[in-house]
Amino acid sequence: MTADGDRQPEEGPSSPFSLDGRGALVTGGNGGIGLALARGLAQAGADVAIWGTSADKNARALQELEALGVRAHAHVCDVSDEGAVEDAFAATVAALGRVDACFANAGMGGTPAAFAKQSLSEWRRVMAVNLDGTFLTLRAAARHMIERGEGGSLVATSSLTAIEAAPRSQHYAASKAGVIALVKTLAVELARHQIRANALMPGWVETDLTRPLLASEVAAEHIIPRIPLRRPAQPEDLAAAAVYLAADGSRYHTGDVLVIDGGYRLF
Ligand code: NAP
Repeated sequence: MTADGDRQPEEGPSSPFSLDGRGALVTGGNGGIGLALARGLAQAGADVAIWGTSADKNARALQELEALGVRAHAHVCDVSDEGAVEDAFAATVAALGRVDACFANAGMGGTPAAFAKQSLSEWRRVMAVNLDGTFLTLRAAARHMIERGEGGSLVATSSLTAIEAAPRSQHYAASKAGVIALVKTLAVELARHQIRANALMPGWVETDLTRPLLASEVAAEHIIPRIPLRRPAQPEDLAAAAVYLAADGSRYHTGDVLVIDGGYRLF
């Protein structure tokens, strides 16, 4: 307030959703949900880094993100490989200068199979990417944020399958339940560093992962009619939540799971 009572604008970002001057990393950011998150973060002003295993997909996504006028960086990285994650994180910090928000989003569905016929190797393959990959990514980000001492936001992409039965996909469902436990423990342990940790829980989202199933008769008969909003999400439907979780507006929001499913779980 000034002496005559006029309220002065507070210092800091212009809006609770502004990401100007911030750095954000999105694993699996070269397509599907991850690219939509990266796009949304860039549109809010963040410099963005994306990781994926395909150099071609990375290059296409990078071009798109650079066209939004922010600093963008892409790195080929298999998130299940500890050394690769450490190298990619160092390269990301070198490129962006800082990582304020980290989205551990890379994931795979695994091959569905009757439980009695599932192999340990497939179980481990899915866990390695979805759970180990999230652990390795968030650990690298937490180390960086603790060292910088300016707080940060950690986000893992879970899935509705973590809380709803997913027959023939026990590996996938267990990996997505695991990341929720991971972020909740991080929320408590890292709060003293002003580092928040949350999970996004999408329902059905139309991406390469789900497109064949969503185009099937099974989806037309049993999935779409169960979604109160009567359509699967498009990846862009999750972008605003990512901006919120990365921005100062969510500074008191930690340890939570944001369900974005068009109401599917209720009906
Ligand atoms: P998607 O289009 O297949 O995207 C998967 C992303 O993960 C790609 O960018 C892929 O890049 C990357 N990726 C896969 N394996 C990787 C690895 N080992 N190392 C690094 N990156 C890897 O699928 P999506 O639907 O967007 O899935 C994104 C996340 O949302 C996943 O965690 C998924 O489980 C979750 N999810 C999806 C839905 C849905 O309905 N679609 C619902 C709930 C949760 P490369 O191809 O270059 O490796």
